[in-house]
Amino acid sequence: MKLLIIGCGGVAQVAIKKCCMADDVFTEIMIASRTKSKCDSVKEEMSGKTRAKIYTAKVDAENVEELCSLINSFKPAAVLNVALPYQDLTIMEACLRCKVHYIDTANYECEDTDDPVWRANYEKRVKEKGFTAYFDYSYQWDYAEKYKKAGICALLGTGFDPGVTQVFSAYAQKHYFDSIESIDILDCNGGDHGYPFATNFNPEINLREVSANGSYWENGKWIETKPLEIKRVYNFDGVGEKDMYLLHHEEIESLAKNIKGVKRIRFFMTFGQSYIQHMNCLKDVGMLSTVPVNYEGKEIVPIQFLKVLLPDPATLGARTKGKTNIGCIFTGYKDGRKKSIYIYNVCDHQECYREVGSQAISYTTGVPAMIGAMLVVKGVWNKAGVYNAEEFDPDPYMEALNKYGLPWKVDETPVLVD
Ligand code: NDP
Repeated sequence: MKLLIIGCGGVAQVAIKKCCMADDVFTEIMIASRTKSKCDSVKEEMSGKTRAKIYTAKVDAENVEELCSLINSFKPAAVLNVALPYQDLTIMEACLRCKVHYIDTANYECEDTDDPVWRANYEKRVKEKGFTAYFDYSYQWDYAEKYKKAGICALLGTGFDPGVTQVFSAYAQKHYFDSIESIDILDCNGGDHGYPFATNFNPEINLREVSANGSYWENGKWIETKPLEIKRVYNFDGVGEKDMYLLHHEEIESLAKNIKGVKRIRFFMTFGQSYIQHMNCLKDVGMLSTVPVNYEGKEIVPIQFLKVLLPDPATLGARTKGKTNIGCIFTGYKDGRKKSIYIYNVCDHQECYREVGSQAISYTTGVPAMIGAMLVVKGVWNKAGVYNAEEFDPDPYMEALNKYGLPWKVDETPVLVD
């Protein structure tokens, strides 16, 4: 199978290496990104370590014509988008025009939130749905009919969260519950990189997400909170006690649609005090803004300038120590009895580094990206249309997680979050 991988950052590098390890499935891989030299150095690193043939190219993923000519010349079975959420729609459009399957790890975001067309849609959606996050699934779900007609599949959000958390939800629904009442998604990073401040994936995407209003789904509607307003403390297996904060997260929107009867869905992520203090300070001085400012005659986007100053997440692997624990606590009913379970994975930063040279956040995203692409190209997860991970049979994905480095556990007596 031929796979075109777009992007060559922290997450992409793990996905590429894992695809190279699965060379019985991925026989030819094209790595294409904005900076071709990064693609070439990953190709070089993998030389002699895989039977997959690797090619590289430069591409602007915001240019549909350029993407189409690359797709038409390489003729992949699918395109794995591990660039940035800003490019989701252009890559989806190119896949549609060329009739190839599409896979990504993050929901579309508009880079320029001052764009009048985007702003009008946004304001309409805020009124209709009641959450103010600057991203939602409507733009990608709007492709469903076109993908169906073209006979191709789009698998949206196959990272860990979104991604594995939704597969856990489908698995809980299939094997543990007659009805699920609540889902709490917990994302704990107990790793320490030793810097006063750094983000574990793209700083721009990460800081926009964390500094925005939080929200959760309850009894059929969204409840919005101020940024980091709701805090809980939880004791995580493999990590210990951590502060965690409620965030808005994209998979809440699709789980609310696809897990029938669910009454509440929340998402919590752990942060230390140092991270929050730095982030608040940067926000207060305007450094998290995506709106360009004029500096000595040159337009600069504050958050993009900040990205240049911060450590590149792809370089944190060697110095990050500790573990992650990410999973979902489900409550609900089985055979008339109330029950709860926690399905989760614990991942060790240093083990990931030894295997692929990356820290665990890139690893826990890149491995599911590879698994999603593999299931789609093998036809195991393949329906024409646009789908989220919980809309497929979870069993093959759960098996693949165990096989490819993200083994999971089920705790049948978890401590619940109040
Ligand atoms: P990085 O910033 O490290 O990498 C992004 C890559 O995309 C870079 O190689 C960059 O090129 C490339 N790129 C950016 N713009 C373009 C463009 N116009 N054309 C071609 N290539 C482009 O990000 P991460 O690896 O940290 O994150 C990748 C994705 O993974 C993001 O969408 C993120 O939201 C998602 N993610 C998902 C998670 C999940 O669990 N679902 C968790 C973590 C991340 P260049 O090298 O030139 O800058």
